Amino acid sequence: MERDIKKQLLALLEWYKEAGITFYFKNVEIPRTSIDKADKKDKVKQKEDKVESKEELLEKIRNEALSCKKCELYKTRKNLVFGEGNPNAKIMFIGEAPGREEDEQGRPFVGQAGQHLTKLIEFIGLKREEVYIANVLKCRPPNNRNPLPQEIEACKDFLFRQISIINPKIICTLGTFSTQLLLLNNRIQITRVRGNLLKGWKNYMVFPTFHPSYLLRNPGSKKTAIEDFKKIKEILEELD
Ligand code: SF4
Repeated sequence: MERDIKKQLLALLEWYKEAGITFYFKNVEIPRTSIDKADKKDKVKQKEDKVESKEELLEKIRNEALSCKKCELYKTRKNLVFGEGNPNAKIMFIGEAPGREEDEQGRPFVGQAGQHLTKLIEFIGLKREEVYIANVLKCRPPNNRNPLPQEIEACKDFLFRQISIINPKIICTLGTFSTQLLLLNNRIQITRVRGNLLKGWKNYMVFPTFHPSYLLRNPGSKKTAIEDFKKIKEILEELD
């Protein structure tokens, strides 16, 4: 009996609907599930459509690195040294790890070696703000010791992602560690490869040269470094 009444009511509703009489449904709550689903889809699409700038992408990686605990160095560092410079730089300079001064300030190459690097960059007609400077490790190894292989392994993804976003024409590696990493060969000696333009990680053009700290300890090598930077200038001019 109850079933029949329901059936009849439904048939009546259907009849009103077909006749275009909608007032009857005024207080009937329309199920939201399908509307909510459509809203959600729209939001996801809007998010996908929004192209993030290089600055935003780099900031995201920096935030990831800030909470990184993939190696022990986060415990002893004062500041993360992510890297800085022009996200559209034609050239990236990559050192090995932050030193004391860098750790204090949270910026790469700001100590004595950094001042020397700045001079070399200016020597080739560029300003420091025009290039991008980073290190293989984002946290300072205690007492400026060399990076350990497991630390490089743990940290390298941050650098690779920085490179992919900036997409420079040349990567100038400073010293052994960044050279070995970018040339994918941990036996390479800097003295053998410096001053040459070589194909490295993901076919990026890699130009190894001495680390500025090495130049400070070995002033006799400064002349060689100047020759290397002259070459970098020529390469950049050719690529323009
Ligand atoms: S050095 Fe790199 S891998 Fe190690 S804690 Fe710092 S950000 Fe993480």
